[in-house]
Amino acid sequence: MINDIQDLASYLGAYDDTSKAIARCVYRGTAAGCPAGVERGVDQDIFWVTGFCEGSDWEHEVYHVPFPCSPDAIGEAIEQAEKDSQETWDATHGCDKCHPEGTGDEWGNVFAPGEVGAPINPDCPSCEGAGIIL
Ligand SMILES: [Zn+2]
Repeated sequence: MINDIQDLASYLGAYDDTSKAIARCVYRGTAAGCPAGVERGVDQDIFWVTGFCEGSDWEHEVYHVPFPCSPDAIGEAIEQAEKDSQETWDATHGCDKCHPEGTGDEWGNVFAPGEVGAPINPDCPSCEGAGIIL
């Protein structure tokens, strides 16, 4: 059970039991670098996390998890924020140099070069596997 920010800090392996340390931990622990922190609620502190997509001003839902909570609730909130980030990325990024002939993804969807949602080639010399904002 996570009862307070101290418990959360030790659960996440943060260097300190501050909102800043929690934020740094989640930022580094997520592929998207999700913003997170702990804010003061009326009766209890609340962990929050939200999606992030570089170069996009897309609004992401903020997930709040008030203490006390289970470690799973924290994990699920972070996971959801990651998923949102990925969806935004998929919706805003692509690269027409990755697959100049067009490509299909693992589900058999066919994409034109640079189409939104098209798979990125990790060895692409143009975007270096990062895609570009469309
Ligand atoms: Zn590329």
